[in-house]
Amino acid sequence: MKKVLIIGSGPGGYEAALHARKEGYEVVLVEKDKIGGTCLNRGCIPTKALVEASYLYKKATGGKFGIKGATFDLSEIIAYRNKTTETLRKGLEQTLVKSGVQIVKAEAQFKDGKVIVNGKEESYDYLILATGSRPFIPPFEISTEILTSDNFTEGNFEVKDTIVVGAGVIGLEIGTALAMLGAKVTVIDIAPKILPAAPATVQSRLSAYLKKLGIKFMLNSKVEKIFEKDGKKAVALENGDVVTADQVLVAVGRKPNTEGLESLGLQIDRGFVVTDEYCKAKDNIFAIGDIATRAMLAHTASHHAQVVIDYITGKKRFKKEEFPIPQFVYTQPEAAWVGEFTGRAKKLVLGAVGKAIVDQTEGIIEIHTDGEYVKGFVMIGYGASEIVNLASVVITAKVTVEDIEKIIFAHPTLSEGFKMTLM
Ligand SMILES: Cc1cc2nc3c(=O)[nH]c(=O)nc-3n(C[C@H](O)[C@H](O)[C@H](O)COP(=O)(O)OP(=O)(O)OC[C@H]3O[C@@H](n4cnc5c(N)ncnc54)[C@H](O)[C@@H]3O)c2cc1C
Repeated sequence: MKKVLIIGSGPGGYEAALHARKEGYEVVLVEKDKIGGTCLNRGCIPTKALVEASYLYKKATGGKFGIKGATFDLSEIIAYRNKTTETLRKGLEQTLVKSGVQIVKAEAQFKDGKVIVNGKEESYDYLILATGSRPFIPPFEISTEILTSDNFTEGNFEVKDTIVVGAGVIGLEIGTALAMLGAKVTVIDIAPKILPAAPATVQSRLSAYLKKLGIKFMLNSKVEKIFEKDGKKAVALENGDVVTADQVLVAVGRKPNTEGLESLGLQIDRGFVVTDEYCKAKDNIFAIGDIATRAMLAHTASHHAQVVIDYITGKKRFKKEEFPIPQFVYTQPEAAWVGEFTGRAKKLVLGAVGKAIVDQTEGIIEIHTDGEYVKGFVMIGYGASEIVNLASVVITAKVTVEDIEKIIFAHPTLSEGFKMTLM
């Protein structure tokens, strides 16, 4: 039986392990920390749990639903976050073990073209590297303790006045959670707009909604120094301004964990492993997920896993990034987008969708078509992170606008907003 050796058990590594077992390979999965990687332990799941709890509190205290007297206990919110990740982690470990994946809890090292695990060279027929990424700390002058997304998602933070450096997805999700719990939040970014990779509609409308939530934005602002001042944290900007708060979170991007991989003879470009369209880095060595793409998302990593296993079985049905990748930010309101944002755009305000009014009326759906096919989808509002998958199906499967007219959507649902926008 051929052996697949996988380093890293995030969504790239664990999906590759499960696919490889299904295809009958011997699979060894090496993980130095908790099973599930960044996504399950310090990323997607804990942030969503914390935003969800904060949103519930915001809803219960907002007066809209006739609910009165709601309070929160941060330690219990964190206990709920822990329970959520533990449940998922246990389930994942059981699935891996049941499917016959051999899990080795150790840090793999890369030396002289070899993979060393627990002091010994580990053999393989195929090697899949899925070592993920970690918070990137830019070269600011930092002379005090700062928070990163790791501290926040592990529950090591307080609901206090916060400066968030970075108006990307991670900074905005964490900033939203803190603001909904009542903290004063200031988001600072060197860029002129939030979410640099998002469509213009999201950049402009979402920042307006987040301002209404109480978040203050200082854009076009270059951070130079983070230090302690009169018992507070202070951030000095290039223009001479100094902003103070109780805590500072730095969320300006992620750094791929590629140290040592060049010793396997791989090409590393600006920190990322260079691969071909099937995630092949060299001969029988593959690199997937955050170490091999700038679209650092859990579902990109899982897709890469499928691409690699499909490739080594000889099927070669998919390529690395040939389909549109849905993206979203779990702020409140949420925003999500997929595809291309050219061509004709049809728009619908969310206030026209019955189910949306039950929760939030804020938001818009924007669908770009070429007349026949849907090309792009943008949504800001309640449920955007779910509806974006419907848009992905429609775009990837090339469902026509005329087909959508025939399809019966249930009422009242958020997804019927998709059809309403096109009609
Ligand atoms: C706060 C936050 C929120 C996020 N929210 C979302 C979201 O909502 N949706 C989304 O799609 N993405 C989200 N992401 C991104 C997502 O978490 C990553 O894109 C995804 O986890 C990448 O998967 P991966 O398999 O490449 O690596 P990772 O999940 O980072 O896993 C890599 C694993 O490799 C292990 N490892 C590294 N080196 C070694 C070694 N030498 N030996 C053994 N083990 C090793 C690490 O311990 C780790 O467990 C978020 C990220 C963060 C930080």
